[in-house]
Amino acid sequence: MKEKYEKIFACMEHVEQAIDDYVNYKEAAPQLIKADGDEKCSYCQKTAEYLIK
Ligand SMILES: [Zn+2]
Repeated sequence: MKEKYEKIFACMEHVEQAIDDYVNYKEAAPQLIKADGDEKCSYCQKTAEYLIK
């Protein structure tokens, strides 16, 4: 799915995996933005702490 890695939400546990996936897919440095608490992690059901885009 092309949209999948346009932005990734991640909890504290999955932030490193999210960065790896982003870099592998986009081949660009990600921006880490503090999430506002309304979104779920893209890898589990926890509340996302960061938005990677
Ligand atoms: Zn997670």
